[in-house]
Amino acid sequence: MKVVPRGKGVYSFSRDHAPVERIKLGELVLLETEDAVGGQIRSEDTPLESIDWTRVNIVTGPIYIDGVERGDTLIVDILDIELAPQGVILVVPGAGALGDKEYRPKARLARIENSFVIFRDVKLPVRPVIGTIGVAPEEGAIPTAVPHKHGGNMDCIEVTRGARLYLPVYVDGALFAAGDLHAVQEDGELCVASVEVEGRILLRFGVIKGKRVEWPVVEGPDHFSILVSDEDLDKAVKIAADEAVKAIMRSRGWGFEDAYMLSSLCVKIAVNQVVDPKKGVRAIVPKTIISLRDLLSQT
Ligand code: CA
Repeated sequence: MKVVPRGKGVYSFSRDHAPVERIKLGELVLLETEDAVGGQIRSEDTPLESIDWTRVNIVTGPIYIDGVERGDTLIVDILDIELAPQGVILVVPGAGALGDKEYRPKARLARIENSFVIFRDVKLPVRPVIGTIGVAPEEGAIPTAVPHKHGGNMDCIEVTRGARLYLPVYVDGALFAAGDLHAVQEDGELCVASVEVEGRILLRFGVIKGKRVEWPVVEGPDHFSILVSDEDLDKAVKIAADEAVKAIMRSRGWGFEDAYMLSSLCVKIAVNQVVDPKKGVRAIVPKTIISLRDLLSQT
């Protein structure tokens, strides 16, 4: 097993980053990850004015995966997620769904013990999420805070222990990186932060040769979720709906009209988050309706 230590990381996804590790398909990889605020808040007394905002959302990597080439789809099996015993949640004026209200910047620590998150006197079951996970994009450097086709800061609650994620590969080796763990989060991620926590992620990679998903896809036990993001939430919904209907057309061999009708009956649209530079939604399509090949295009 390869271990990639905390601190070997980047603040953007780019083909220009030198890989910090090179691994083989099927090999186990343990990524140690920093929390989304770069470990800068270890006490509720830390003044938020002292935070260096250029040091947030570091992801561990990038990792070069042998045997993975431009035009392929990277398969990421999330085998396990371990969390540190303490996380931090914060609110910052101007950020989040209610950022236009008047309030003070504030941080609170949350304890994580016995599979529960303890926030003040509220106890919630731990449901870990990998907030930021992705590969080098087609072009340029995309800051880790921004989600898009390459993955990035998707903050999707389905990207969790036991899930399988499919990512489009734009450069040889994929240049994969991940971080920004949340101990628990709900769809929307309203206040802009979750329980941000450092931890370790156990992964294994596979590949689909010569075919690519258009957007990241998460596979759950009974469904595929297509993860779409855009500055405009309505537009993200429209793209996600279009991708789902196209997959149904391929799967059934139907025309648009019938596939569009069926989408109303069995495709669920959920909101990943409404707080990042691009908002995220997912189209959840049951495996009884489509299979993976309906989400792949020849490259
Ligand atoms: Ca995040």
